[in-house]
Amino acid sequence: MSVPILEVVDLHAAYGRIEVLRGVDLAVPKGAVMALLGPNGAGKSTLVKVISGQKKATDGDIHLGGVNVRNAAPEELARIGLCTVPEGRSVFPNLTVQENLTLMSYAGVPAEAVLETAFTYFPRLLERRSQLAGTMSGGEQQMLAMSRALASDPALLLLDELSMGLAPLIVDELYDTVAQIASSGVSILCIEQFARTALRVSDYAAVMSGGRVVASGEPDEIMETMSDVILGGAA
Ligand code: ATP
Repeated sequence: MSVPILEVVDLHAAYGRIEVLRGVDLAVPKGAVMALLGPNGAGKSTLVKVISGQKKATDGDIHLGGVNVRNAAPEELARIGLCTVPEGRSVFPNLTVQENLTLMSYAGVPAEAVLETAFTYFPRLLERRSQLAGTMSGGEQQMLAMSRALASDPALLLLDELSMGLAPLIVDELYDTVAQIASSGVSILCIEQFARTALRVSDYAAVMSGGRVVASGEPDEIMETMSDVILGGAA
């Protein structure tokens, strides 16, 4: 494994008195796509929240590009190169596609660059640039959410449940684009219930259960040894 872009060491977090991350260890190599799999309630979304600065860790460390960022503010994480596409997407429904994208220019990214990146990866957004985001399909909204994340030129993209509520064909299409994004040099951690789809484009995979990473390795190996855990109900 090359030097990790993200290294999580013995990370703990709790809701009230209930500890839900119970010593998570995880390393995402620079330039790699890693799938983070596991059953409902394993702690995947909580891990995303802690890594992305939305929830405090109670113990452990998080290194991003070699910098210790445990409990860093989201704006500091963004500056270092972390960008998150949260579960359930996050577009402004009453703004057009183009307005959703050019809003990023307030964060100092030139509007033309944001639009060019978005329309290169997702030509469908170009066709729909004047449409209100809230009237687009779930898959198209996910494309928009991903485009906004890409606007900040991230070193590490955190994708939380890209597939949520979407038809398998669209999910496949989105993951094809994930592979293209990765080939441009962005490291990607994708949290996913559809194990097979995520593993298709991943270099590595990790499996969470009960608030810990219980297995990690190459996709074939994980599919072979952990299929009972990762295929529970979802393909
Ligand atoms: P899913 O795929 O169902 O979202 P997950 O692996 O992402 O599952 P989390 O959402 O991180 O798991 O949940 C881990 C545990 O923490 C679960 O037992 C869940 O009920 C609990 N939990 C999550 N959010 C909260 C919250 N805001 N308050 C209290 N408990 C929570």
